[in-house]
Amino acid sequence: MSAPPLSAEYVIVGSGAGGGPLAVRLATAGHSVLVLEAGELAAGLVYDVPVFHGFATESPDMAWNFFVSHYDDETQAKRDEKYDAGRGGVLYPRSATIGGCTAHNAMITVYPNDADWDDIADLTGDRSWDAATMRTYFESLERCTYWPKWIATVVSRLARFFPALDVRGHGFGGWLPTSIAKPSLLAKDWQLIRAQALAAAVPLVVRPEHRGGAEQGLSAGTLAGSDRRGSRPPTRHP
Ligand SMILES: Cc1cc2nc3c(=O)[nH]c(=O)nc-3n(C[C@H](O)[C@H](O)[C@H](O)COP(=O)(O)OP(=O)(O)OC[C@H]3O[C@@H](n4cnc5c(N)ncnc54)[C@H](O)[C@@H]3O)c2cc1C
Repeated sequence: MSAPPLSAEYVIVGSGAGGGPLAVRLATAGHSVLVLEAGELAAGLVYDVPVFHGFATESPDMAWNFFVSHYDDETQAKRDEKYDAGRGGVLYPRSATIGGCTAHNAMITVYPNDADWDDIADLTGDRSWDAATMRTYFESLERCTYWPKWIATVVSRLARFFPALDVRGHGFGGWLPTSIAKPSLLAKDWQLIRAQALAAAVPLVVRPEHRGGAEQGLSAGTLAGSDRRGSRPPTRHP
């Protein structure tokens, strides 16, 4: 007897950061969903422990090593020291497993710079992309764990007089927990120490900008990560 044909209202190709949550949203809204995933179900320490993300990226169980060229002009492409002539490009590691690249990413949350959102709004002529609107989405998805909400509220009031204390722009009830890496970890990593020294010398390049009341850009001292229970929460977990 042959199996009945599969049918679904939605077919989603890939179970990564995009496909996984979309499939869940559709299914919980009562739709039938079929998810096609090219990778296997990987599991184990390198998958579950965030600090092993480097190993996870190279894990043969899930690594998909693509090589890409960033330029049409091959001479220009070869100027990149990471260019691998044998493979015709620069390594572009991807993860093929349930959860896609959420299975090996570094779980760092970096908020985009306002200028990038505003550029998109200008380019598309659609103001719903602008920085002020996008910040409201971030506020609704973030669960900031490094500022208790009452402190954030009090401190934001004081920020009128001390702008550096301004923590507006953060959310406290969303699904994405953000925390700050322990500064003591930096003391053991010379590359980060060098980056921090550079940040002090060239503040606008690496330090967070305080514009509109919230951090923008990346700082070695205030890397915010998404880490709820100390383990990796990829899309395969509810
Ligand atoms: C090494 C690395 C570190 C990163 N670190 C961070 C970080 O610290 N913070 C952060 O926010 N982001 C980080 N990212 C980026 C983030 O993980 C990705 O932007 C995000 O996972 C992309 O989601 P996606 O759904 O588009 O694709 P993916 O998560 O890549 O998922 C795609 C899925 O589709 C599957 N697939 C592909 N083709 C097919 C096919 N033909 N049929 C069936 N299945 C298919 C793949 O197997 C994969 O499971 C990192 C990415 C990498 C590679």
